Amino acid sequence: MIYLDHAATTFPYPEVVDYFSEHLAKNFANPAGVYDLAIREEKSIRASLSSLAEDLGCSPDELIVTSGATESINTVLKGHMFAQRKRGNHLITSQGEHSATRQTCAFLEEQGFRINYLPLTPDGANDLTLLPGIAAKDTMLLSFIGVNNETGSINDIKKLRHLRDAHYPQAAIHIDFVQGWNRIPINLKALGIEYASFSAHKIHGPKSIGLLYVRKGQKLWPLIHGGGQQNNLRSGTENSVAVGAMALASRIGKTAMSENSAHVSALRERFISAIQSVRPIVRDTGDKVPHILSLAFPGIQSETLVHMMEADEVYLSNQSACASKAYAFSQVLASMGVSQDEAKSSLRVSFDASNTFDDIDEAAALMVKNVQTLYDRHIK
Ligand code: PLP
Repeated sequence: MIYLDHAATTFPYPEVVDYFSEHLAKNFANPAGVYDLAIREEKSIRASLSSLAEDLGCSPDELIVTSGATESINTVLKGHMFAQRKRGNHLITSQGEHSATRQTCAFLEEQGFRINYLPLTPDGANDLTLLPGIAAKDTMLLSFIGVNNETGSINDIKKLRHLRDAHYPQAAIHIDFVQGWNRIPINLKALGIEYASFSAHKIHGPKSIGLLYVRKGQKLWPLIHGGGQQNNLRSGTENSVAVGAMALASRIGKTAMSENSAHVSALRERFISAIQSVRPIVRDTGDKVPHILSLAFPGIQSETLVHMMEADEVYLSNQSACASKAYAFSQVLASMGVSQDEAKSSLRVSFDASNTFDDIDEAAALMVKNVQTLYDRHIK
């Protein structure tokens, strides 16, 4: 099989699997305990967080371990807005967000918060030129995706930060960095943002674990109450083994990031040129990460093509995995000005450094074959 859906999720690194099997059975003590066995786990978590903090450019005590980015995003959006409610109730996000942000915003709107959704440019980035017209004195949070999960578009965080600093200094910035982690360089302190969300399963770590960066001094209500772990910001028994595995995945990916990126860029270029005979629309303009490729074959239902590729044991996605059952077509593409018909014929191919040129040649040849079959059926 050829797996080209790495933006939906990816396999854990073999080192991560080894780490789990080595530690899961013996490192079971509750890190909150006072005896040696427990203190060892507590120390292991501290060491893992130090390593993660070094990779992301922050302090270990600015990282909260969550069950994944959906929880991180819920914690920031609800926790920050409820904590700041007396000062202001306005949040700005974009039309290009993952459903974790979209649905949390829908909930906040029901609770009486005011939310604006910034449109996207045709390249898929946030249209920041519109921000000054929307932001106001009661804007408390600007929450944007760092790298779009459907198109790979990279948002300009530095520009956002400068706009905020100059015009709305009271507003905190949250970035959903799920698709950017180990794909683009990230230094949280240098970016000067207040919050960021991360997910381990997108970087070859375990599923159901992620991070929330909370810059020192931020006032945030917890989403989950209980035993007061993680400075009262996220209660629940901590999982030293999963945190260790996440730290390991982060370090392996960070060390190989530039080499991986060069290889993935070459795979992408090869794939694009190998499918030219069936005339794809390739959404390749603007600043993009190489691992996500958004394309369309006009007139073809992408779901049909995805299933034909599946029959050939090639796995890719017709939309972002998390949204595919909820919407008939992509909200992100709609905001970029893509027609409904073109959106319905759109695919996401997402590469990883583990893919080979042979994988790409084979997958591209199968795509050409299947698209041609569908076009031929149309013509008859
Ligand atoms: N944000 C983005 C951009 C994503 O791609 C995803 C996962 O698809 C999420 C958030 C949610 O992450 P998790 O699966 O860790 O909850």
